[in-house]
Amino acid sequence: MVGTVDGHEDERRVRVADLVLRLRRAGISDRRTVAAIEAVPRDVFVPGESRADAYAERALPIDCGQTISAPLIVAMMTAALDVGERDKVLEIGTGTGYQTAILARLARRVYTIDRFRTLVAAAESRFRTLRIGNITTLVGDGTKGWPEQAPFDRIMVTAACEEIPDVLLKQLRIGGVMVLPVGPAEDVQKLLRIVRTENGPAITELADVRFVPLIPGKAARL
Ligand code: SAH
Repeated sequence: MVGTVDGHEDERRVRVADLVLRLRRAGISDRRTVAAIEAVPRDVFVPGESRADAYAERALPIDCGQTISAPLIVAMMTAALDVGERDKVLEIGTGTGYQTAILARLARRVYTIDRFRTLVAAAESRFRTLRIGNITTLVGDGTKGWPEQAPFDRIMVTAACEEIPDVLLKQLRIGGVMVLPVGPAEDVQKLLRIVRTENGPAITELADVRFVPLIPGKAARL
């Protein structure tokens, strides 16, 4: 039917345009980051009951008692990771797979780990629906990283670490970048950008953030 407007698509376009404007105002101008955020439909990743708020500037609850970060935090972390198109990226904390899908648009391949089987299965089904083919998932303990696939060019952790995880730092190539929240669980953490240099980690603080904690071990249920 010529000239028909799909109401849903139309609404998504308005919400995405508004989000891009917010990114610009917040000083996130990196072209590739903005393009990736424009291209990944956030509403596909949030649970049905929160869908009306999918593009709102706040974190939302997802399955297994976890949360998807607010859009600006996702954008800030993505821009800070500075992913190149040939990069091999490790992400700890798949959650809904939203951040994973954004990284997948920027990188050669993304390896992502979550401790909940349920979350990984749902994320995989979204990747299939959106025909994203360069993501490899694992249900497991992200605190161990993914030694078989190391070294990585980039590592992102989307759960709060009590301290900078040495295991992950060792799986980053020299010159590689890691972005992660570090600080006490159930409190405010510092979002850090770490470059692994020959002389050790070079650390920059980016912002105060609040993430669900990184919990060692694979989830026994779910
Ligand atoms: N980035 C996600 C949100 C992540 S929420 C998104 O875009 O939707 C944090 C995630 O980290 C949760 O799904 C939680 O299960 C996971 N997580 C916590 N501890 C973990 C661990 N040790 N290994 C792997 N994943 C872990």
